[in-house]
Amino acid sequence: MKKNIAALLFFAAGAASINAQSYENRFERPLSEVLNEVSQRFGVRLKYDVDTVGRALPYADFRVRPYSLEESLTNILSPFDFKFVKQNDKYYKIKPYEYARRTEADGEKMLAYLSSLYADKDAFEFRKDSVRKEVRQLLELDEYMSRCVDKPTVRLSKVRKFDGYSVRNFALETEPGKYVCGSVYAPLAKGKHPLIICPNGHFNNGRYREDQQQRMATLARMGAVTVDYDLHGWGESAAQYEGKVHHTADAHTIQIMNGLLILEYMLSSRKDIDKTRIGVNGGSGGGTQTVLLSVLDDRFTASAPVVSLSSHFDGGCPCESGKPVQLAGGGTCNAELAAFFAPKPQLIVSDGGDWTASVPRLELPYIRTVYDYYGKGENVTNVHLQNERHDFGPNKRTAVYDFFASVFALDAKAIDESKVTIEEESALYGLKRD
Ligand SMILES: [Zn+2]
Repeated sequence: MKKNIAALLFFAAGAASINAQSYENRFERPLSEVLNEVSQRFGVRLKYDVDTVGRALPYADFRVRPYSLEESLTNILSPFDFKFVKQNDKYYKIKPYEYARRTEADGEKMLAYLSSLYADKDAFEFRKDSVRKEVRQLLELDEYMSRCVDKPTVRLSKVRKFDGYSVRNFALETEPGKYVCGSVYAPLAKGKHPLIICPNGHFNNGRYREDQQQRMATLARMGAVTVDYDLHGWGESAAQYEGKVHHTADAHTIQIMNGLLILEYMLSSRKDIDKTRIGVNGGSGGGTQTVLLSVLDDRFTASAPVVSLSSHFDGGCPCESGKPVQLAGGGTCNAELAAFFAPKPQLIVSDGGDWTASVPRLELPYIRTVYDYYGKGENVTNVHLQNERHDFGPNKRTAVYDFFASVFALDAKAIDESKVTIEEESALYGLKRD
């Protein structure tokens, strides 16, 4: 009854503006006015991440469907390339079109489409070869690589020894006069060790943050050599470039290139790396880069993308989607790119509080079907933390430790983050010296 009264009041108030419209002016009305009315009519709050000022909506009231808020919003917003995102039954956000983000329903349809392209290993391998080549081209990776110096200068800090591991910073020359900086965490024990390349995400304070140091050092205490490095335009990279270079398409390719150059540097300069055990692991944007590195270099033997993998979100930063990688092969998504790693061991860490919430229902079954083509369905695993949100918290790090302990035969007894020394940011610099 309340709803009916609200609707009657709404019609009484709206009659004047409806009368003012005509066929001659295409029944045009200000967009903000129409949205306000829709908000009242359906009893929902709208929050705007877009500017509606000065925008006029043709055939305005004809776009409203009295029986459906969402159909009305779709009709009203589509002429402006805006969209709505439901927060709850009473609250919707109005946003600009996001090319890198789709709905879970879109992801489901995409995976069904991709699954229709192959039903066995041969068909999948054929698809994989062509998409991988196209991904490389879309990144313009070879062009960027051709600008790099042949014999890069490498600056190394002194080695700092801690409980069961050591840390040494490096600055590796990429393009002439430009350096990617990072730190190598190594076990104290002699002998051959697996190597884990760890691209970073956008967590506060980048690679210098506490949980990053805990993960890098703990994996080293367990027996792996781990390497992290700055995002392009973050940390020590920021001082080497003008302006906000991270928010450019360049960042996408340069970060991938840096990961590949560091892999090459580690394998060519160190005698203590076991080349049959090469891992890649990162969270969020670092997870996006993890999958891409695994696509671009066959030397990786185990991969662990954390809180990133999704069929309906490519990663919203230009360093994840600045180059149109997802257009490869007539249309792909990060879940298919991760499936290209089959049948090698892969751990997908997901949670209930971000776009990875769909992993157990959508992405994991799809990727496992691909692994089954190789008779290795058990080689892709998922740790899903339904009550957690988007971070690289203790349970996610533990999942990573357990995975690499298992696939690289690391010492699981050495999992103890209390033994890790958290260093000051400046102690981890590869170029700057105090
Ligand atoms: Zn980024």
